Amino acid sequence: MVNICKNSLLSFLLLITLQAQSSSKFSDREKQHILSDKEGNRKESPMRILQTTNRSDSLMLRKECLDIDISDPLLKTLIARMSVTMLQNGGVGIAAPQIGILRNVFIFVRVDKMLELAQREQERQKEYAQFKEKIKQEIEKEEISAKEKRSLKKKLRIQEKRERAEYKKFGKKIQTEIIEVAINPKIVAHSDSVVCFLGDGCLSIPDVQGNSLRYAWIDVEYYNRHGAKVREQLSGYDRNGDFTAVIFQHEYDHIQGVLFIDKLCVE
Ligand SMILES: [Zn+2]
Repeated sequence: MVNICKNSLLSFLLLITLQAQSSSKFSDREKQHILSDKEGNRKESPMRILQTTNRSDSLMLRKECLDIDISDPLLKTLIARMSVTMLQNGGVGIAAPQIGILRNVFIFVRVDKMLELAQREQERQKEYAQFKEKIKQEIEKEEISAKEKRSLKKKLRIQEKRERAEYKKFGKKIQTEIIEVAINPKIVAHSDSVVCFLGDGCLSIPDVQGNSLRYAWIDVEYYNRHGAKVREQLSGYDRNGDFTAVIFQHEYDHIQGVLFIDKLCVE
């Protein structure tokens, strides 16, 4: 009994140690790299993307990554630099190892939310256009008094102001909600069926496109940019529509040292 307790205690301590090791803060080398900036000291400038055509880059891209302590203050800078790097290169996702940081962090574009947001914005703009047209028609009516016209014009000005504010909000949402951050992510379940996703590509593999084998949907867990734990199901594998689940799987592979060229399939 005593031995069992001792063993349990040892296992417990070992587990705690392993957990502590597996989610450590950035090392001094990593800190230096995240804060490095050859283009003039702006902390959020883009970083060089590792390429498979370079031997040492290629070896690094094949390494498995470690979890990061989500309270590390440099995560914010890393995420900001990854975002500008991705946007500057026209990507829809990028993983930390692609810029030389072997940590379980990636960002991905929420195509699902983008479609939703764009549709809502389109509907709002349509409603506004209809409202504007209706008021204009009212104003033009001969039987409308000058006082009523002034009141209608005021109504229109108020709505125009609201409209500008809503449009600003839409722009902000695009920046903060469309680029999702996944810290220490996991795929906890997935569909039995797989699909052959058409036209995969990677910022680390120049001039290569191919079809990759992907799960149709995945259940995922990760910490977002605010440090909140997220559990959700992602789906979508249509290049011309929603393909959020594919982007997540592509980036998740990167942190395991796997590239899309390892998963090629025939249409
Ligand atoms: Zn990639």
